[in-house]
Amino acid sequence: MTIGILGGGQLGYMLALAGYPLGLRFRFLDPSPEAPVGRIAHRVTAEYTDVQALQRFAQGLEVVTYEFENVPVEAARLLAERTTVYPPVIALEEAQDRLREKTLFKKLGIPTTEFAAFEGREHFAKAVKHLGLPAVLKTRRMGYDGKGQWVLRNAEDVEQASKELPDVAMILEKFVAFNREVSMLGVRSGGGETAFYPMVENHHRGGILRLSLAPAPNLTNELQQTAEEYTRKVLDTLEYVGVLCIEFFEVDGRLLANEMAPRVHNSGHWTIEGAVTSQFENHLRAILGMPLGATSAVGHSAMINLIGESPEQAAVLAVANAHLHLYGKEARPGRKIGHVTVRADRPEKLRERIAQLPDFFRRPEYCLETVSVAGLGNRVMKLRDAG
Ligand code: AMP
Repeated sequence: MTIGILGGGQLGYMLALAGYPLGLRFRFLDPSPEAPVGRIAHRVTAEYTDVQALQRFAQGLEVVTYEFENVPVEAARLLAERTTVYPPVIALEEAQDRLREKTLFKKLGIPTTEFAAFEGREHFAKAVKHLGLPAVLKTRRMGYDGKGQWVLRNAEDVEQASKELPDVAMILEKFVAFNREVSMLGVRSGGGETAFYPMVENHHRGGILRLSLAPAPNLTNELQQTAEEYTRKVLDTLEYVGVLCIEFFEVDGRLLANEMAPRVHNSGHWTIEGAVTSQFENHLRAILGMPLGATSAVGHSAMINLIGESPEQAAVLAVANAHLHLYGKEARPGRKIGHVTVRADRPEKLRERIAQLPDFFRRPEYCLETVSVAGLGNRVMKLRDAG
């Protein structure tokens, strides 16, 4: 059985690695001749807008999925006429536009950040006046990892942003003074079966995810249930098939949905070693109509992203239960080139292992001070189904 994947980056790479033990084959489509999956799978190098290439690509595929949400909707539609595309094209459309996404959240009764959408520079001032400061200005489309965003704290920031403002559809959001950022990964199969991973606590720097702690420290059953309920609403409404990630701000015990990604997600990489079934395997099971695997955590995990540089390998591998993943990408500033997951059965042990990582990880951008200062081990963990 061959699965087609649009996008040949690290998410596709890890999907293939999860699929080989199941006897699956993979064919990737990516415009870049350097896409990392070329090392391990059949890669077709073509633009997503190349109709002939898409037609050839679709031949003989069981199902097509995608590993990034900015796949042109037309490409997904064209493929959907020839084979099955999961997650459904509607999920791509909803997730590609921050206004549609927020409108969907509101419609489903999922609390979200207050916002004002506008088009054209001349309407910027009115939106600022309507919403007030501080606020975050974002392009409605093509945003990822904090790109296309401006934080507006005062009149000077507004002045500066109005000079740089691209003439595209924008959305202005109230700045949320959150306690922390968390995410929920849910998976739904074609038959409507759903499963949810324990929530994850995420730490970003410069808009890029740096550290995920799973299950989120201090995770209460109530928070987990609320996030599952919200995520289930989106999954069922979109008749979704595959893994979906929703990122939330946690504010005084309440959840505000920030955005969703209709695909496997960076905040779920810990599931490779830290959950009974990884997000990658469960995505494949879902899109192939197979039973879903258990989503329980196996102990406690910290997933640390390697951005633009990687540590000495041996020093990482010397730490018990530390797992190094390198994606085979050339190191460039700001580029995700790999990740490390450290796992332990108890939070204190996890903290101990993190402290054994090489000095490379002591720099503030790795956010590991949050683990030692907040004292993971002192936090009460109320875990559902802890493995
Ligand atoms: P996004 O591209 O929407 O995921 O935003 C990237 C990061 O910017 C988020 O993970 C937050 O850390 C921050 N951010 C985005 N929107 C807001 C907001 N409305 N209030 C506060 N921080 C935000």
